[in-house]
Amino acid sequence: MADSATQQTPETHEFQAEVQQLLHLMIHSLYSNKEIFLRELISNASDAADKLRFEAVQNDSLLADDAELKVEIDVDADQRQLTIRDNGIGMSREELIDNLGTIARSGTRKYLEALSGDAARDSNLIGQFGVGFYSAFIVAESVTVRSRKAGSDEAWAWTSEGAGSYTLQPVDKAARGTEVVLTLREDEDEFLQRPRLSHIVKTYSDHISLPIRLQQEGEGEDAGGYETVNKGTALWARPKGEISEEEYNELFHTLAWDAGEALGWAHNKVEGKLEYTSLLFIPSKAPFDLYDRDSRRGLKLYVRRVFIMDDAEKLLPNYLRFVRGVIDSNDLPLNVSREILQSNRVIEQIKAACVKRVLSLIEGFAKNEPEKFETVLREFGPVLKEGVVEDPDNREQILKILRFASTKHAEAGVPQVALADYVERMPAGQDAIYYLTAETRKAALSSPHLEMFKAKDVEVLLLTDRVDEWMVNAIPEFMDKPLKSVARGDIKLDSIVTDEAAQAEKEKVAEGFKATCERLTSALDGRVKEVRVSERLTDSAACLVAPEHAMSRHLERLLAQAGENVPGSEPILEVNPQHALMQRLKDTPADADFAEYAMLVYEQAVLAEGGQLEEPAAFVARVNRLAFGG
Ligand code: ADP
Ligand code: MG
Repeated sequence: MADSATQQTPETHEFQAEVQQLLHLMIHSLYSNKEIFLRELISNASDAADKLRFEAVQNDSLLADDAELKVEIDVDADQRQLTIRDNGIGMSREELIDNLGTIARSGTRKYLEALSGDAARDSNLIGQFGVGFYSAFIVAESVTVRSRKAGSDEAWAWTSEGAGSYTLQPVDKAARGTEVVLTLREDEDEFLQRPRLSHIVKTYSDHISLPIRLQQEGEGEDAGGYETVNKGTALWARPKGEISEEEYNELFHTLAWDAGEALGWAHNKVEGKLEYTSLLFIPSKAPFDLYDRDSRRGLKLYVRRVFIMDDAEKLLPNYLRFVRGVIDSNDLPLNVSREILQSNRVIEQIKAACVKRVLSLIEGFAKNEPEKFETVLREFGPVLKEGVVEDPDNREQILKILRFASTKHAEAGVPQVALADYVERMPAGQDAIYYLTAETRKAALSSPHLEMFKAKDVEVLLLTDRVDEWMVNAIPEFMDKPLKSVARGDIKLDSIVTDEAAQAEKEKVAEGFKATCERLTSALDGRVKEVRVSERLTDSAACLVAPEHAMSRHLERLLAQAGENVPGSEPILEVNPQHALMQRLKDTPADADFAEYAMLVYEQAVLAEGGQLEEPAAFVARVNRLAFGG
């Protein structure tokens, strides 16, 4: 026990700087949706009960004679105090310091950065960032947390007014668990009204599988009767037919910390060899941290109604990291750990089934609910593409879901073209699915690589997501058609073309241009591997293409941007003999002039594919010299 000296003088601690910043924000700018503080404190109480239940599996003496876990809410109108009490795991002195004075996760800084100034949205982000406790200061001028850790006989009080510091001192507290006492600000009387509190609990915390009991009206001796306000059963354990959409959405809100509606969900009870319940939600908005390495992912795992862990990432593949939900298994041991989940057959089977359920849900949208399907594509399309690379077992099914932009559907917005539709539209003689990767839709559309395809009315997929390069490399073929980049290797569209006379004329011109190609090849030695007459150009003078088996030029650029040292293969320069510049070249005898034109052709081709010139100033000088003499 602490000595009497510390009992009289509370020790003062400074908040970590980030906490101070956060508190300032809570107090001064979150003026709408204030009631979420109650959701956050109840959620913490419920987590504390879950943690205790979990530890008690190993050590049932922790539950001692107080085995009925619950949350109580007391109201003291005279003192303007609201108390949220649990008999969960509790916190030691060190835990009070660590959990309520610092922010362990990298979350806060991101929270502060993500703030939009829209108070309603910002307050919904609180839980998502793991800073829920501090929301107490939205309504309270002072907060006291009294806590006794399960299995310990010391209790500590933590008190703060939300300014720069908090104090700690030992207290007497007979019961295990934590009690958070809020002294409300002047104008927050509404949170002293029982009907209001009861309504808030029902709105946000109805499904919490712990009774939430509200102290009833009554003075002095009469005070102290409690009534349970929430339903208190795990929603997923109830029969589907009895659950309303609102109830599903409430659970979704707390799982995803997302104020929006879920786009859809799959709720399944599996019986037989394996027994488990899964409830999977597809959000209608991508979480802010979808592309963060340490974003929340995975599902909430329960074993026979006992909470085991949040974010069990082994339960879903990475590319479904936007899905939120719960698995409640009857087969896993209660002491299952993250390590055990790594290579567990039960988990593997549950995961495989969950993937199917999510993909089928999306397929259902594609068939019957086009608006929802569009939302999925818009919010999660690029992430789903990762699945093509990551999950060969489900590749076919994912490819059926994906939609792409193409030269025939190039409007901005959500891409429209399914691979199957593309294949169906292919003219006789076309034997590959053609695609072009580029930084942006605009760059793709103006690419010289498309010219011949446009001229011959051959559709080309336009791929502008970062993941696209990796995705196409993982698809050898679709419906027996290989995927081919229009910017790589030798492309012949002869078989599609019918105008034989034009073809013969072209071949003649190409033949007559051979010598010029050779001169160009030596003039551009060290820059390009080869110069040849192009099959793909009709308007532009030249373009660069990657050799058949080399890395694509677009991918080389992406890797270089990511700071990776790519070996960089020499490209092939393809030229268009019909172009005036090429005619000029052909007729330029002097080697010095020829070299000058050759560089111009090469530099144009680099610029046209969105590349960077090595010497931009030299290029400008060259253009001026050739255009204006000098
Ligand atoms: P989060 O709940 O996302 O971790 P919070 O800011 O809500 O973030 O809470 C911070 C931490 O404080 C919790 O992770 C938990 O360790 C501790 N904590 C808060 N409330 C309680 C409580 N009632 N009982 C035990 N621990 C608690
Ligand atoms: Mg919390």
